[in-house]
Amino acid sequence: MPVTDIRTPAIVGCGVIALVIAASTLLRGRVRTVHLLFAAFAADIGFWYLSQSLFFSFPTDTRVWQTAVALLAVLLPVIALSFFEAMIPHEAERRPRLRRVAGVLTVPMVALVLIPLQSSIVRVSVFLYVFAMLTAGLYTLGQRGAQSASRATQRRVRFLVVIGAAAGLFTVIDFAWFLMLSNRLPPIGAALSVVFIFVLAQALRHERLLDVSELLAKLLVATGLAFLLALIFYLLSEVLFKQFETTYLNALLAILVIFVFDPLRELVEQWIQRIFFRDRFDLESSIGLLRRRLVHILEIEELGGSVVAALEQSRRMTGAGLYVRDQDGTGFDRLAGLGPRVPERIEVATARALLDRLDLGPLALEEVEREARDHKARGERVPASDEAVLAAAAVLGALHRGVVVGVRDEARDLIALLVLCDDRVRDAFSPEEVALIGSLAAPIGVVIENSRVYGQMKERDRLAVLGQMAAGLAHEIRNPLGAIKGAAQLLADPSADVVLDAASREFLGIILEEVDRLDRVVGSVLDLARPDQQAVVPTDVNAVVRRTLQVLSAEPGSEDLRIDVILDPALPRVAIDAEQLRQVLMNLVRNASQAMGGRGKIAVSSRVRLGRGTRSGGPASEEAFVELNVADNGPGISQKVLENLFMPFFTTKEKGTGLGLAISQRIVQGAGGRIEVRSYEGKGSTFAVIFPAVMDALGTPTPGTVAAVADTPSAGR
Ligand code: ADP
Repeated sequence: MPVTDIRTPAIVGCGVIALVIAASTLLRGRVRTVHLLFAAFAADIGFWYLSQSLFFSFPTDTRVWQTAVALLAVLLPVIALSFFEAMIPHEAERRPRLRRVAGVLTVPMVALVLIPLQSSIVRVSVFLYVFAMLTAGLYTLGQRGAQSASRATQRRVRFLVVIGAAAGLFTVIDFAWFLMLSNRLPPIGAALSVVFIFVLAQALRHERLLDVSELLAKLLVATGLAFLLALIFYLLSEVLFKQFETTYLNALLAILVIFVFDPLRELVEQWIQRIFFRDRFDLESSIGLLRRRLVHILEIEELGGSVVAALEQSRRMTGAGLYVRDQDGTGFDRLAGLGPRVPERIEVATARALLDRLDLGPLALEEVEREARDHKARGERVPASDEAVLAAAAVLGALHRGVVVGVRDEARDLIALLVLCDDRVRDAFSPEEVALIGSLAAPIGVVIENSRVYGQMKERDRLAVLGQMAAGLAHEIRNPLGAIKGAAQLLADPSADVVLDAASREFLGIILEEVDRLDRVVGSVLDLARPDQQAVVPTDVNAVVRRTLQVLSAEPGSEDLRIDVILDPALPRVAIDAEQLRQVLMNLVRNASQAMGGRGKIAVSSRVRLGRGTRSGGPASEEAFVELNVADNGPGISQKVLENLFMPFFTTKEKGTGLGLAISQRIVQGAGGRIEVRSYEGKGSTFAVIFPAVMDALGTPTPGTVAAVADTPSAGR
């Protein structure tokens, strides 16, 4: 009579799945010895389970099925050991002894099971033989894995051995149940064997098991939890609260689940991580610690030390380097390093291919190298981009097979690189670990940006104090300067009684010229230190532009200069002192002219710009702004100069004061506006001054009236 229980269909199912996996391995592309051996291994197990179920289903033919089951069992050790050997070859050349023993023993064992008369001694010896051989096989597999140079292999094997051992153990338990003729329990051993085969198939297919093993680890956690909850439920309903109504029981259980589930899951997960993924656990905890530390770091020097210390602490790397892009953006300088032969600097030009690849996220160079090797092994061409990346990786010195993480700023520009490697092992970092390391990019980027702002703030404070002192000094200088100038003018007066020789006249000229220059500098310093002007009237920007340009065009040295003017006739007015606006424009046009060496084209334009404003009082809405642009086609401004452009006394000119832009910015900001700079090295710069337009009572911009200023018409000159 066929037995209808959950064992039979489950065992049939497991057998069929094992056979399907075996077949799918053979059908998938290139079949190597290891695939053949795996297929044999899976098929043996598959048929073994099928024979078992047939043994249950057709008890009349017991003898045939019994022999089949025994035969397949006897064949399993030699197949399994050969497969394990092919999957993770032993470093030494000699043939492994265990497999030889299994090979030799297979023949008498087969003979033994084929003998028609089967005693229980035969059965027990077959069982012991299979069990002992498989256990020994798993043990040597584990040993071999532990010795492997590849960390991924170590982990993969550790996991395989655990699943294999569990499968074996539960198969034995299955049989114990079977012997006790209890068919009520599901065949856990069969299910685990199928899982084992599946994991092996995945390992063969992807050559990396990490993703699968992690998936299984999660599965393990979930199963463990389910059992735990079931146990709690059982204890509650059957033992503790037998007399309770189920409603209360369910409520109690729900509360338990809500409060206990998460901490319990975390605990189990941590436990599994610690056992199976020890290295990963170490890496994860040091990176977690580092992320928490980064939040408190403001100085860039401290950043380097902290990052390297944390990486060193994880004991997962032999070399590391944190590189920060230099001021002019041509390379990355080492901020901190760990290990020998870590380069001092990485040039952007030579590492270009590598840097470009970082757009796709963190890059494991060893992976690229392995893929290239695989391509070559298959006789295919290595993709040109991979070749370029590997060639560029040479600049990383000892870190050339490591993991590279690009750190970006808010504008997505690469501002730093974190490179690390472990050359003690192959496959040092799994994809998940690479992603984990990559998660450091964002906090490192924030620290770098913050440290820059912090540095600028410190510099600004220093300059503010300096500015106040300078203003005091300027006041003191102005009076004696006036006296010197007056005296020199008196001496130089041709109508005076004193007759001067040519040399004295020349010296007086120099005195007067330099006094004038000094006076201008002192005037600028006072401008900068002067408090904001309070009473400003709506001013017509276009009119101020025209008048200023008229004055500028009359200046000596502007003959080779062309100024194109395009003014928006419908420009609203701006609340600013006309004289101050004139000063801003003069500064910008003079800078542009000086940048081009006095010859070239400057474009001055004005336009209305709409944007979201934060004008106090009303709701945030589209507001009108007036934009005044001064564009030149000079040499442009380098990154280093750009960063200090508006700092008082910052100048690159021999006779510059470094106050023009500082004063301009102060004026513009005083009128509620801002200055934006766009510059392309070698192509030119554009300074845009943006002011909020003056609104009338109805909230519409007040137009500037051309009639208010007697002036030349709008278009260029
Ligand atoms: P100064 O003109 O006295 O040097 P500024 O504050 O006006 O002082 O300018 C500071 C610096 O900014 C200049 O020395 C120059 O290097 C740079 N700069 C300003 N405008 C331009 C421009 N249009 N093109 C190139 N560089 C510029």
